[in-house]
Amino acid sequence: MARGTIRLREEYAECRLVGRHQWRRSGRFELDGADLGATYRCGACGTRATFAWNVWSGEMGHKPSYEYPEGYLRTGKGKATRADMRQAAVRVVVGRIGGKRRRAA
Ligand SMILES: [Zn+2]
Repeated sequence: MARGTIRLREEYAECRLVGRHQWRRSGRFELDGADLGATYRCGACGTRATFAWNVWSGEMGHKPSYEYPEGYLRTGKGKATRADMRQAAVRVVVGRIGGKRRRAA
């Protein structure tokens, strides 16, 4: 997808800018064999992730599984890269700041 054409929801901008989510645990820790698992939710964009750690080594036992909110990812036709999404996030913030300046003027 050409840059400059992605419309990103405002609540996704923070995570896209810094490339990180604001994880907060949203369920109980659960023990399944040698795996300690828990589900987390991002306080900014609403993405959910399930993490698991090996109880002996402390290492993440497998790749976390993610559940993204509608429109957070752009895949398939109209696929966007992380750089595309970050640029869209910058535009969201610039728009927000610009709006405040116009109101202040
Ligand atoms: Zn997020």
